[in-house]
Amino acid sequence: MTVPAPAFRLFAQLPAELRLKVWRYCLPHRVCELDQPVDRIVFNLDDDSSSPCQLYQTTYQNGRPPLISHVCRESRFVATESGGSATVCDPDRPLDTQWISGTDNSDAWFDTTPDSPHLNWTSGYEADYDYSGDSLQCLVWEASRMSATPSIMLTYLDPTAHEPHASRLFLQTQSMLPVPKLVTPDKVKVINAYKQLSAWLVVMRVVVVHAHLDAAAATGLFSLLGDAPVQIVPASDQARLNRFYDLAEECERRQPVTVAQDLTRQSADSMRQHLRRVITTNFHSDELTTIMHPAIMFRLCTRMCNHRVEI
Ligand SMILES: [Zn+2]
Repeated sequence: MTVPAPAFRLFAQLPAELRLKVWRYCLPHRVCELDQPVDRIVFNLDDDSSSPCQLYQTTYQNGRPPLISHVCRESRFVATESGGSATVCDPDRPLDTQWISGTDNSDAWFDTTPDSPHLNWTSGYEADYDYSGDSLQCLVWEASRMSATPSIMLTYLDPTAHEPHASRLFLQTQSMLPVPKLVTPDKVKVINAYKQLSAWLVVMRVVVVHAHLDAAAATGLFSLLGDAPVQIVPASDQARLNRFYDLAEECERRQPVTVAQDLTRQSADSMRQHLRRVITTNFHSDELTTIMHPAIMFRLCTRMCNHRVEI
């Protein structure tokens, strides 16, 4: 038997300040994706492997206006206080922070107050997608006008990770001491760009949660109303990580899937060590190891594209 949702019919009679506070509380806290991820690159798949999710769908959902923007004039006012779409044409953006790519996501909604900027781009895209400008300077500029911590993919720091079977080789050799590469002037420029900000999150793995919107929203994991389908959780927040992993496992157990994901949970310590090795090998910088922190990205896909259709 379905229990009807409780209704509160006196909302319109609340003082305007209280109503605005309620609407602001309902705003999603999103990961603002500057570009679209491509599943073959994110999951390091070869041509014969199937993908666990068509990720562009989750990026599309993540870039839509927040749900409260559709409720009434007052809620839309709140949604647009610091939110809107298209950042590339911002007249205030310095020329050297402009970056355009074939995976551009500039039509997406973003909000400078609760959102955190994220770059999906890595060297793995360069062969198949046009691009111009400096992606890191672009991200640093976006981060400077947002309050939340920016994030990048682990493979943005470690281009060799896109080579075939790189992750397996890395595991086989992780007990060996890394051999630092030469820190070139270009690398120094990159290190200085990272150091403009006090903290970064580095996505070590992407996990897709296939669930219906009402079920996902009820967990509260994807913001209050379920309209923040991309979440990045620091490795240090084990309790929250476990809640996401529990949900992902439950969703894969409930119905046969076309491609099972590796949902092995790594400890925060092992992720920190992995990240430290990558930074040391590629940048030889102790400073970067103190400002970069490992994290896991969870993406809610309500299209259920990984679920096998029973005949
Ligand atoms: Zn999917």
